[in-house]
Amino acid sequence: MMRRLLKDKLQSSCGISRLIVILLVLVIAMGVIIAIPGYRAYQRHSDQIACTIAMKKAQDMLDIGFLSNSHLTYKEACAIVEKSKWEQDALCPSGGDYYLIEDRQENQLYRVTCGLHESDTRLRVRLNADHAYQLLNDALAELKAQGQELPEAGFTFTLNGHLLPVTRLEEDNGLRWGTSASLDYQGTVCFFSVDDTGELNWFVYADENHAAVWLRDDGWVGDAYR
Ligand SMILES: [Zn+2]
Repeated sequence: MMRRLLKDKLQSSCGISRLIVILLVLVIAMGVIIAIPGYRAYQRHSDQIACTIAMKKAQDMLDIGFLSNSHLTYKEACAIVEKSKWEQDALCPSGGDYYLIEDRQENQLYRVTCGLHESDTRLRVRLNADHAYQLLNDALAELKAQGQELPEAGFTFTLNGHLLPVTRLEEDNGLRWGTSASLDYQGTVCFFSVDDTGELNWFVYADENHAAVWLRDDGWVGDAYR
């Protein structure tokens, strides 16, 4: 009798303990689910601030360079920004590529900006598109120089610290503005097509905001240029 009572008590207490453990796990899981978006937003914000500080260091080095030589070429200015990465740790924490844009305000010939953190979304797309376009042209020229065939799938380049597939298509896919689920393309995408001789015909770089399109006859178009 005594043994049975003890067994019932143990079973009952085991049932309650299990329930408490399950409830605790659920509460912790819900806490994590709620906290992740907040943490990501915080991380994005702190990366943005760290990038602004890093760009300021690169800009200061560039401004000093212009003080000593007001006729710095674009290439020389790029070399100073590159040097600031090693000397001043002027790097985007998210891996964004730094670009120079013409800015003649306050006697500054160039402004340093980031391919991930530039706030003007149209300008950001134009800069990244031009960078990807240059990488593609360099890759095509290298293949041509070596007499190699163009890969069927296209290429993968590193842009803003991430691998970007630059996909070869037979023809223009009509993508002229930013990507979204309704357009079947999400996030950042890049496509191109070539003619029978292997010359670039059409190129597009698009993210969820805008698209920059290069056409052989028209040059750069797309809503990033409006
Ligand atoms: Zn950045």
